[in-house]
Amino acid sequence: MPEMPEVETIRRSLAPRIEGKTITAVYIFSPKFIRNTDPETFTRTVEGKGLKALNRRGKYLIFVLSTGDMFLIHLRMAGRLLYCSASQERNKHTHVVFCLDGNDPTQLRFIDLRHFGGIYLVRKGRDLPPEGFRNLGPEILAPEFTLAYLETVLKKKKARIKSLLLDQSLLAGLGNIYADEVLHEAGINPMRPGGSLSFEEIHRLYGVIQRVIREAVRERGTTFATYVDGEGKAGNYASRLKVYQRQGESCLRCGTPVERLKIGSRSSYFCPRCQV
Ligand SMILES: [Zn+2]
Repeated sequence: MPEMPEVETIRRSLAPRIEGKTITAVYIFSPKFIRNTDPETFTRTVEGKGLKALNRRGKYLIFVLSTGDMFLIHLRMAGRLLYCSASQERNKHTHVVFCLDGNDPTQLRFIDLRHFGGIYLVRKGRDLPPEGFRNLGPEILAPEFTLAYLETVLKKKKARIKSLLLDQSLLAGLGNIYADEVLHEAGINPMRPGGSLSFEEIHRLYGVIQRVIREAVRERGTTFATYVDGEGKAGNYASRLKVYQRQGESCLRCGTPVERLKIGSRSSYFCPRCQV
């Protein structure tokens, strides 16, 4: 599932290819992927408009049109975006196609084999972005994410630190893989209530979150199963994972077998010795 480093990698691979182009046509093969409006309204708003910028907030990609209208794409579990020649054969899980102008016509295809992803139309002054987008907490690498902020949001919290790190309204961008990795790196057990962390632990966690995410962005994300960037290239961070999906294997720091447990509905991987 793409998390912030993967979505940012997709954005960086697509932006130079699509910014400045015009969307000449939109083909919607599965209307349900347009989550907040009907296909006709979506098509009418987007067709014939220029793509001014491709931005990102949390795990959302933001396509800004020349008119000031936007649409957002969330890839969820297994969604992906493929930039390719208009003549390339279409994968059967392709649900929406954006045709782009140019000497060699290209397309941006939204593909999703698990059907959790979605596209949201946000017309200037008319549509509210989805609630999940409106409630996003600060970006991990933005100046608003400060040590004082992390301290404040964890204070008195009874919820487990793992669940708190996944809460996009507290911090935008972490998902299951990087939450497990940062907790291992910081030596904090995922079951601990947020409010039980000492100042030293919060301080350590704060530094680790930024470092791990910065490194993952540099490595162009982590590829398991389905994630690839806009050109179909895999990420390199998988080889650096220390606990995620390594249950039964030795902790790279102390040799203790990595354990897995469910927190909420999500699997969590951790070292019972290093993470207290
Ligand atoms: Zn260990």
